[in-house]
Amino acid sequence: MALVSMTEMLKTAKAEGYAVGQYNINNLEFIPAFLRAAEEEEAPIIIAASDRLVDFLGGFKNIAGMVKTLHEEVETTVPVVLHLDHGQSVERCRQAVEAGFTSVMIDGSHHPIEENIAMTKKVVAFAHAAGCSVEAEVGTVGGQEDGMVGGVTYADVNECEMLVKETNVDALAAALGSVHGPYQGEPKLGFKEMEEIAERTQIPLVLHGGTGIPEYQIQRAIKLGHAKINVNTESIQAWTNSVRDVLANDESVYEPRLILKPAIEAVVQTVKEKEREFGTSGKAKGAVNS
Ligand code: 13P
Repeated sequence: MALVSMTEMLKTAKAEGYAVGQYNINNLEFIPAFLRAAEEEEAPIIIAASDRLVDFLGGFKNIAGMVKTLHEEVETTVPVVLHLDHGQSVERCRQAVEAGFTSVMIDGSHHPIEENIAMTKKVVAFAHAAGCSVEAEVGTVGGQEDGMVGGVTYADVNECEMLVKETNVDALAAALGSVHGPYQGEPKLGFKEMEEIAERTQIPLVLHGGTGIPEYQIQRAIKLGHAKINVNTESIQAWTNSVRDVLANDESVYEPRLILKPAIEAVVQTVKEKEREFGTSGKAKGAVNS
């Protein structure tokens, strides 16, 4: 199956009460790990590159090429989305679509809402014309991501409704207390606002900062309309812990393959656990019909 957009995938997930995980690429080896985890769990999957890592990963065309080629090489049968996470400008989203990404997030959340809406509208116009889906953000997810540190700004319910009505986006990340990176103490998600935003926008919601949110809060967020959950830190931690252990346990090891194989396995296991937790396992077949 060719790479797909997330439009239908997220509608199905929302209707059936589960969430599809988004997992971020941090180097080439993360891609086969994600594909294997999805295939073994028979789960639809969203593979993402964060805009801030695009240059490190070799550029939009290189990322799209790697994902498409590997996806064909390993004969993936589950639906796979290639998504741009936190697209920093309209132009960056255009480059991603032109390179072959099937979905983009335009992150206009740091701008006043009118500007956020204007940027999102522009992206929706060319992305939808190319068959790609679009995610937008209102409010700001805090914490640390790809070297950026920021505070949480809660999404305003009226702004969420206005943005969704005016832009025709496919998914909305409404910041409600989740943070990128590890939490200090238990996360305090704004469930009351979440319910209201889901009710008033009626579109699939996206939960950023999926690492470290206790399972009962994840399940509540899914019940209240979250159809996509982003996970990055947990995969990176699994990867790094494995590399650290291999190097610490064997001072003579120097072959990258021997160092990286257990790290790939650690990422596969992390993603499989998330797929089970989010209810995505076994959902590949019915996720996308057209
Ligand atoms: P974590 O790194 O906290 O899992 O968040 C990932 C994320 O939201 C990517 O957009």
